[in-house]
Amino acid sequence: MSSWELVYTEYHPDRERLREALCTTGNGYFATRGAAPEARSDDHHYPGTYVAGCFNRLATEIAGRTVVNESMVNLPNWLPLELQLHEEAWLDLSQFEILDYRQALDMHRGVLRREVVLRDPAGRETRIEQWRCVHMRRLHLAMLHTRVVLQNWSGPIRLRSALDGRVANTGVSRYSDLNSQHLRHLDRRVVDPECITLQVETNDSEIRIAQAARTRLYRGETQVGSAPLIEENDDYISQTWSLELERNEPLQVEKIVALYTSRDDAIYRPETEAGKAVRDAPRAAALSVDHVQTWEQLWRRFSFELDHAPNGEHEGRLDKERTLRILRLHVFHLLQTCSPAAMDLDVSVPARGLHGEAYRGHVFWDELFIFPLLNLRMPAITRALLQYRYRRLDEARRAAREAGYSGAMYPWQSGSDGREESQKLHLNPKSGRWIPDNSRRQRHVNSAIAFNIWQYYEVTEDREFLAFVGAEMILEIARFWSSIAAYDGARGRYVIKGVMGPDEYHDAYPDSQSGGLDNNAYTNVMAVWVLRRALQLKTLLGDQRWDELSELLSLDTEELSRWRDICEKMFVPFHEDGIISQFEGYAELEEFDWSDYRSRYEDIQRLDRILEAENDTPNRYKVSKQADVLMLFYLLSAEELQELFADLDYRFDPDTIPRNIDYYLQRTSHGSTLSRVVHSWVLSRSDREGAWQLFCDALRSDIDDIQGGTTSEGIHAGAMAGTVDLVQRCFTGIETRDNVLWLNPCLPEPLKRLGLQIHYRDQVLDLDMTATQLRIKSQECAALPIRVGFRGETIEFSPGDCRELELDTPCGRRRKV
Ligand code: BGC
Repeated sequence: MSSWELVYTEYHPDRERLREALCTTGNGYFATRGAAPEARSDDHHYPGTYVAGCFNRLATEIAGRTVVNESMVNLPNWLPLELQLHEEAWLDLSQFEILDYRQALDMHRGVLRREVVLRDPAGRETRIEQWRCVHMRRLHLAMLHTRVVLQNWSGPIRLRSALDGRVANTGVSRYSDLNSQHLRHLDRRVVDPECITLQVETNDSEIRIAQAARTRLYRGETQVGSAPLIEENDDYISQTWSLELERNEPLQVEKIVALYTSRDDAIYRPETEAGKAVRDAPRAAALSVDHVQTWEQLWRRFSFELDHAPNGEHEGRLDKERTLRILRLHVFHLLQTCSPAAMDLDVSVPARGLHGEAYRGHVFWDELFIFPLLNLRMPAITRALLQYRYRRLDEARRAAREAGYSGAMYPWQSGSDGREESQKLHLNPKSGRWIPDNSRRQRHVNSAIAFNIWQYYEVTEDREFLAFVGAEMILEIARFWSSIAAYDGARGRYVIKGVMGPDEYHDAYPDSQSGGLDNNAYTNVMAVWVLRRALQLKTLLGDQRWDELSELLSLDTEELSRWRDICEKMFVPFHEDGIISQFEGYAELEEFDWSDYRSRYEDIQRLDRILEAENDTPNRYKVSKQADVLMLFYLLSAEELQELFADLDYRFDPDTIPRNIDYYLQRTSHGSTLSRVVHSWVLSRSDREGAWQLFCDALRSDIDDIQGGTTSEGIHAGAMAGTVDLVQRCFTGIETRDNVLWLNPCLPEPLKRLGLQIHYRDQVLDLDMTATQLRIKSQECAALPIRVGFRGETIEFSPGDCRELELDTPCGRRRKV
């Protein structure tokens, strides 16, 4: 198996749902899970097709309350291509003896293949070969190609090709008490003997969705099967062909599908466009040429080369092939979720991709883990995704206003229009209880948005974007932080109360009736970080734009001086021994008996659910789901933190960082896949072995479904991107700060060589490094010189330049932690 392929050689009904998520094919506009074309939604299979940004809201009576949830809608299944052999039942793999089975996701070409040889009880052997793709350039098109060969018999076969709208959002069993019927039928048509169409509409947001399918049958090059039988009812339409097939005479079936919605640009009506698109489409092989070419181009931009020794005997052992395969899988799914071809869309990155229904297609703070990877490869994608936030700035302003604050308060979970989509109640599957969900108190998402804007700007120096899009968001977020921060006269410091940090285990004080915690360190420090950046904008943008923005936002000197004051007086809680307290009062919580729980439960990643089911709560303990305080060391350099703390008049010695890491690492259950990414990063210089182990575990999050069932409900886009970013920025020591591209490689022990290409301020740089050498080469182009920093020195670097640097002291101290 090459590192470009994800291959399964056995059919395992129990693992199908996971494989469907991992074998999803998509193009950023829409994606379809890797379900078999004959599969229907059942305990083992879940075909799902999702269009980015296609949301609908439904109300449900639950636990005595009416809750409304917005979901990314599962759209009609375009895949069905069923086979009936010799007048038996419609083919179902479980009814046959499987002689040969191979399912392969070819990531290089963006194609999913399946080859199966089946034997029925009468000894008839049939070979079925299929490939499919969702076109990476022609966003509305997908295709499924099937080849059937009767290996040792001749006889009748029937083929049924359908568009099946009998779907609902039932992919996540935790949500099964909630209403799931998002679609209503509009119409279906037989356009001609080859083409059928189906049109549905979301029942609240009223988005119309049209699919058209053109199915053609070929014997050799001759098209056959002229008059299919049509079956139809409200939300279903199919064509069935009956044929006599000779032994070893291949039959080819090409199904080309177009999908449009009423949200699309430059269309008249979705069904007109869908019909036109399939009528005009060439044959599948020709159609796939520019799809494959687009993927090849993408892979050149997102390339990695690495060499590493087989690593360890532990479960999930990695070798060069497997590491590369997983990294590619992560890039692959990320690009299928936010592709360059989809840059014009009004969407951001759903936390679980377009790969399943977990978290209902919502956008969280996970962009923070995703954008850095895109910034250094194809920053135009980040720019497009940041626009999603800008378009929702007014909604964020409204949310701030309604909560009694000023500025803009972005939601923890965002969907169609940017209002808060976090659920009010969530189900603990362990106890069966619906419990209040306080997660919307994670106001820190606002700092993540400002941070993302700043990072994008640092990499690209895109002043136009900063001046006309980014700055307004940063200023409004700064304003929000300033208004939520209250001056505590007794302390002489500003405090932020009633929030939640990234660690979702703590959502209130033990025995408190109101939700939220006071002075979450991460929240407070990042609020200061945003305010500092907002103040810096004045010099960066120049007087004209600054004055315009000040007028537009009615920013006055009084407000700015309050911002400055907060930057000097924000409260940050510390334990007595210099450990930053996750929040005020954390030090007083009980220590948790980890060994007891490890011995009683096989998997304690989701301690919140375990404790709630025991009528207890993590709020009582020093336990974390994921990195919280440590996020500071993940995002900010030691120098930056030191400066920020000095201005706050706190003594912060970078030497305490390892102690902080150690303290929180011991108290974290990694209940989020993001957690290991962050912990691996912050340990990368001080405990290279531990960092590598966490990196390996993070790599396995989805491919091995280490959370035991969550990946089948959708990939973890943040962890996928975060692991690739560990290779891209952490192992290389890349930092983009103050107009300098800093490099300081520190390869983990097993990694012998790493090569990758990055884009920085219009230059394309090829980096190649070993433990002792770093080579940096800039491709010829007309870009301006950049500054490259290495071990405290900076040099000017022009297109065409090449430098080889000796890493005399391997893993020299990083600027960052
Ligand atoms: C994590 C959040 C994350 C969300 C979506 C949750 O489990 O705790 O940090 O944003 O998943 O990925």
